[in-house]
Amino acid sequence: MTDTTEVDPPRPPSLVPGVPSALSPLVRRIVAPNPGMMTGPGTNTYLVGIDEIVVIDPGPANDPHLDAIVACGSDRIRWIVCTHTHEDHAPGVAGLKKRTGAEVLAFDSRDGLIIDRPLAEGDRIEATEFVLRALHTPGHASNHLCFLLEQERLLFSGDHIMNGSTVVIRPPDGDMAVYLQHLERLKDHRPRLNAIAPGHGHLIGEPLAKIDEYLQHRRQRESQILKVLERGTPTTVDAIVASLYTDIVEELRPMAAATVWAHLRKLDQEGRAQGGDLDGPWVAADQG
Ligand SMILES: [Zn+2]
Repeated sequence: MTDTTEVDPPRPPSLVPGVPSALSPLVRRIVAPNPGMMTGPGTNTYLVGIDEIVVIDPGPANDPHLDAIVACGSDRIRWIVCTHTHEDHAPGVAGLKKRTGAEVLAFDSRDGLIIDRPLAEGDRIEATEFVLRALHTPGHASNHLCFLLEQERLLFSGDHIMNGSTVVIRPPDGDMAVYLQHLERLKDHRPRLNAIAPGHGHLIGEPLAKIDEYLQHRRQRESQILKVLERGTPTTVDAIVASLYTDIVEELRPMAAATVWAHLRKLDQEGRAQGGDLDGPWVAADQG
């Protein structure tokens, strides 16, 4: 799901839904037909492997999309994994499981997703041609996993990192402090990441630059929020959104509010702001 403050660049045709594109010798991508303000061009479903295939994020329960995945992977789909259980990533699992009999793996069974086996930090899926390793990356969702294709140092980032927009952090399941810690952690990953395959948008060829951009964007937003609080008058999340997101479309206001609230909760944990819930009021800590 995306925040909305940035305008997406024009999309080349390779992100057209239903058309598989080869991204590397081991990886193919099929975009689900669910484009939108929150999903960009649609959810990216990835097929990793040739002899034995892992499908990452089947997306919504859309029959033509699931049929396209099966047409691409035929009877070699052995595993289905989910980065997290949001509605644009996981509901297609049941239909794909039915079509393939593949084993379903994710952090946990939640939001209607039923798994065969949980994956935790460091767990590996070992196929004949490759190893896919799970990294627990909470923040956007507490059950969020990224997957590292070790042979290519390619990270499937789900909604932890996207291309074309920033990530919504929606408390209480979303947590800004935890999110930023896990971005920093990816930055320090060794061996260095070669590329990032996001849940939405194009392949990211310069992982470190993208992660830095994300961190900087969040720091900037946080200092803007602190400045509003430091005016001294108790304020609300809605008032902060109105002051900072001046040209936001109405439909996206709840997402902006969630993210501002997530920033405030982080500032509260750090003793820099005081307040409580989405309805406020919030003040800078030294005025509380
Ligand atoms: Zn999500």
